[in-house]
Amino acid sequence: MSQTKPCILLTFDDQHVDNWHAVLPMLEKYDAKVTFYQNNLDKLTDEQIDKAQQIKAAGHTIGCHGWRHVWPVQYTEDNGIEKFWLDEVQPCLDWYDAHGWQITNYAYAFNNYDQHTNARLFNRFDRFRCGNAVTDRTQFETFESIFLDLDQLPTQRMMPGAHLDTISRSEPKPVIPMDVWKRIFTQLTDRAQHMTFYGHNISATDNQGHVTEVSYLEEVLKLAQEMKIACVGMDDLPAVVR
Ligand SMILES: [Zn+2]
Repeated sequence: MSQTKPCILLTFDDQHVDNWHAVLPMLEKYDAKVTFYQNNLDKLTDEQIDKAQQIKAAGHTIGCHGWRHVWPVQYTEDNGIEKFWLDEVQPCLDWYDAHGWQITNYAYAFNNYDQHTNARLFNRFDRFRCGNAVTDRTQFETFESIFLDLDQLPTQRMMPGAHLDTISRSEPKPVIPMDVWKRIFTQLTDRAQHMTFYGHNISATDNQGHVTEVSYLEEVLKLAQEMKIACVGMDDLPAVVR
């Protein structure tokens, strides 16, 4: 069923299938569906492929995040768009096809894209998670530009997200405070809107790279549930009208 109620879209990137799989029970507890964008698919072990399949079977969305996570714009400028497609996109599609998975969502590596990459990828993928200019996450006002209207979803193909991780480049970062989450959720309800977020690893113990701390994620999911904000995956959205 497609989602037309106020909602958040939590998305997570890269190669953290073990830790993503580990939080499935927590996501289930809060009736939350999220989106995972994978890269380096050929490096997954059989056990990890099985975990990814369980994630998908639990109703979460799986998307592409490039094959080797190169910088899309630079790679295209250096090699041409067809080379980017052949090296970064087609191998992902082949892998997913070989596993029988229908994939219609893409998140550019480094949230890096331009009109050339979009022109090539828009025919194949429905929606694209991207970044945004939100820098100071402690201020509600900085989220203003990424509140999007639910009734525009059929033509909303770029989904600008706010950074969710509590650790970035192995350093703790000031997080979105819970009172800001409350204001975000209130506006989502009052104005019939949705908002997208992006993180990477999900862990209680890892502190290298980019990590969303498990207990922080749980706090957010709990508040969302209390305030009747759905947490949905990209596959739960109304179909894109092209
Ligand atoms: Zn990435």
